[in-house]
Amino acid sequence: MDDWQRFEREHVWHPYASMLQPVPAYAVHRAEGAWLELEDGRRLIDGMASWWCAIHGYHVPELNAALRAQSERMAHVMFGGLTHRPAAELAQRLLSITPGDMQYVFFADSGSVSVEVALKMALQYWQAQGQTQKHRFLTIRHGYHGDTFGAMSVCDPVSGMHHLFASFLPQQLFADAPTAQCDAEWDEAQIASFRQQIEAHHHTLAAVILEPIVQGAGGMRIYAPEFLRQVRRLCDDYDVLLIIDEIATGFGRTGCMFAAEHADVAPDILCVGKALTGGYMTLAATLTTGRVCQGIHADGAGVLMHGPTFMANPLACAVAGASIDLLLASPWQARVRHIEQRLREGLEPYRAHAAVHDVRVLGAIGVLEMTRPVDVARVQQRLVARGVWLRPFGRLLYTMPPYILDDAQLDQLIAAMGSVLDDV
Ligand SMILES: *Cc1c(COP(=O)(O)O)cnc(C)c1O
Repeated sequence: MDDWQRFEREHVWHPYASMLQPVPAYAVHRAEGAWLELEDGRRLIDGMASWWCAIHGYHVPELNAALRAQSERMAHVMFGGLTHRPAAELAQRLLSITPGDMQYVFFADSGSVSVEVALKMALQYWQAQGQTQKHRFLTIRHGYHGDTFGAMSVCDPVSGMHHLFASFLPQQLFADAPTAQCDAEWDEAQIASFRQQIEAHHHTLAAVILEPIVQGAGGMRIYAPEFLRQVRRLCDDYDVLLIIDEIATGFGRTGCMFAAEHADVAPDILCVGKALTGGYMTLAATLTTGRVCQGIHADGAGVLMHGPTFMANPLACAVAGASIDLLLASPWQARVRHIEQRLREGLEPYRAHAAVHDVRVLGAIGVLEMTRPVDVARVQQRLVARGVWLRPFGRLLYTMPPYILDDAQLDQLIAAMGSVLDDV
């Protein structure tokens, strides 16, 4: 181990990790296509797309060029009182591809912050209407919306760290999450808990917030589009805004450009992030409709009270614009459909294994839910030995790979997942 690695291990925090008893972190030297190349020369197929962001893979010529060109002009300027073309062009692209009738864009510096901004938009909307009693949020269990406090308050109450911060967190409302996998199996009982919560509490609700069709970090769960359609209807019936968090699902991951399209549902407020820059840098956005925007300003004085230092960073906007162009110019739907089919054929047989509780596939998402928690360090070591990078959590061994994996890489990934079932 090099000196820098020893130093890093002793002084630098990793996500959700102990500084005193660190689990191994593999040192990456470079990355290209779907490959991560480690400092020791080993090459791994990336099955995680760097937490679902690197949809085009790594070292992408088009994205490198956009970044280089923008860095020659300016890396950053403040967005308070100044503006620039990369922000305008990215906003235009986002408004043209997002579901519903989004008309206004707020650029945030991470997904969690875009969720905070979405919550603020909803709260300020009702305040400006003089309905200050509408200040709570309703969501479904097993959700994940980020690690900042507002976002945490609408994460799953069991897995979402509420026990650590209960005395500080705002109290929100939780309905049971749906379990059905497709509309064919739809059962009205799926929506009963949600319906009951919104009926009982709509007077105090600013908005409903949820992840569309796929609940990601809260459990990699896939649910029926009919649930989302009924949520939209109930929000309309009871005059509650709907915030759709597409941070994990946006930009093609589920087979549609945005997962809300599976249900043909339009949000009032929409969060995007993660794959927005193709995994190059941190950027997210909160989008909303004319109705919400005008509502926020209804009292004539209202301004949206948020403004990060690095708001609409030009480098990030430029690379995000290039990433969207690259996605739209690529056969992304066919690629994602092909990955889906291959994952389904490859992972489904593992259902027969005694350690496997469930197998779930949608778009470029493949999930093995085990019967017991996965020993992450051990399983990761085995996977790395087989040339594959995955980061399991809880009882989940899953992949959300770059869309550019070829068949040999996909098959190696699927085979590696099968090879560790006896270890978990
Ligand atoms: C990752 C994620 C977030 C948080 O985004 P960060 O960029 O990590 O702050 C919010 N919502 C969903 C659905 C996510 O997957």
